[in-house]
Amino acid sequence: MNVHSLQQPRGETRASARRDAAHFIGGAFTQGTTGKSWENFSPVDGTLIGRVPEGGRAEVDAAVTAARAALNGPWGRMTVTQRTDLLGAVADEINRRFDEFLEAECLDTGKPASLASHIDIPRGAANFKMFTDVVKTIGTECFETPTPDGTGALNYALRRPRGVIGVISPWNLPLLLMTWKVGPALALGNTVVVKPSEETPLTATLLGEVMNTVGIPAGVYNVVHGLGPDSAGEFLTQHPGVNGITFTGETRTGEAIMRQAAHGIRPVSFELGGKNAALVFADADLDKAIEGTMRSVFANCGQVCLGTERVYVERPIFETFVARLKAGAESLRYGRPEDPATGIGPLISKEHQGKVLSYYAKAVTEGATVVTGGGVPELPADLSGGSWVQPTIWVGAKDDAAIIREEIFGPCCHIRPFDTEEEAIRLANDTPYGLAAAVWTENLSRAHRVASKMDVGICWVNSWFLRDLRTAFGGAKASGIGREGGVHSLEFYTEITNVCVKL
Ligand code: NAD
Repeated sequence: MNVHSLQQPRGETRASARRDAAHFIGGAFTQGTTGKSWENFSPVDGTLIGRVPEGGRAEVDAAVTAARAALNGPWGRMTVTQRTDLLGAVADEINRRFDEFLEAECLDTGKPASLASHIDIPRGAANFKMFTDVVKTIGTECFETPTPDGTGALNYALRRPRGVIGVISPWNLPLLLMTWKVGPALALGNTVVVKPSEETPLTATLLGEVMNTVGIPAGVYNVVHGLGPDSAGEFLTQHPGVNGITFTGETRTGEAIMRQAAHGIRPVSFELGGKNAALVFADADLDKAIEGTMRSVFANCGQVCLGTERVYVERPIFETFVARLKAGAESLRYGRPEDPATGIGPLISKEHQGKVLSYYAKAVTEGATVVTGGGVPELPADLSGGSWVQPTIWVGAKDDAAIIREEIFGPCCHIRPFDTEEEAIRLANDTPYGLAAAVWTENLSRAHRVASKMDVGICWVNSWFLRDLRTAFGGAKASGIGREGGVHSLEFYTEITNVCVKL
């Protein structure tokens, strides 16, 4: 957590930039009534960004009540066109205030602005536009049913909003992943209560201003800040007024939320952790494979759920691949978000830095060879208070080593040679997770054959992170429950009522 007690020695607040967060409940900003808050520190240099109020049961209750009132009130009475026009305006307003969103996201996460300006913020806006197109064009089914008296019946389906949706989101792509849920939820007529990650409160707060500016009715979009267990996260997912819970985060947290959702039998949609493999065949275009693997391992400092932590390379090109990825890793420049030359930012927090470094240590004790990295970089004094780690590559670990089995969520990968296609497929699928895979080959038949055998929600061939928002997104095995994206979002965000009319 980016959350530190007051006792810990930390840097001073930068004079110009103190940014406090606020809950957004029923269209109004509030600090709530718990009297509790925490300090949000910059992952770049450890300076104080601002304070974040911790919501309790009262704030969650007020937000759910506001969401219910909007559902039964102005939002519920709008036509699809009125609703989608407003959501289009939300997207436009995010783009108009692009620089503010970019600044807020980079403050919280420390990620390079060059990355956030072409992924986080534009996708955050696009998530509001994309689903309005789906909602406006999708129909429902109708069956003509014969009956013994010969007159028949008509069966048709009505899709209705599920209700009040609880959205629990993570810190790695805060605005993008939160709006990936809020966009379809609102487009399909629901209202939401969002509990953003405690690490990254700012863009969710800022979005409240946007909602008010464009005239989204009060209570449609609510934000309650807080932690997970025994705090706003748990209270929201336990709340009987919440009709469905959509969550992105760790598999372990998903298990806790599923238990909480069991009270009242509330449906869940889960996008969870991964331990994703890349398979690089000797017939791959090596330049493409290196470029793609550099991104899939090191982008966002390795804090991407779809990122690659296991790389399997066909033996004839193994040495070359390792040498080239090493050179790429060593060329990444550390720096502040606003510096265009920055190639890699810090991890999200000191706590996460400790977790990643514990895997760096474990890799060595378990017998892996460090090809590059493995520790904390030496940086100028102004960055030394941040949560930096070196981009790291290992070879030679056993297939059951912790760095092969467990999600690390840092800028690191293990590279292992393979000899046959069957072996590569077996190794890639030998994990409890099933989120993503990347296959690198110029052999068309092999590409399709291998992709069809990957036990994952998304398999890229000769690319990585290329996303069409109309496609199904989600994870197999321990990486998730359900799919969202395009028409697949209808499944979770609506209830179907079948109307049977005897003629
Ligand atoms: P996390 O599970 O620690 O936290 C996610 C959210 O859950 C936070 O808002 C947190 O406060 C909340 N939470 C924690 N305990 C809770 C509880 N008991 N009840 C209710 N809410 C609770 O995850 P993180 O560290 O923020 O994010 C990193 C993880 O997210 C990684 O495992 C990554 O793979 C995963 N992730 C998955 C996807 C995907 O699409 N599959 C996308 C991004 C991140």
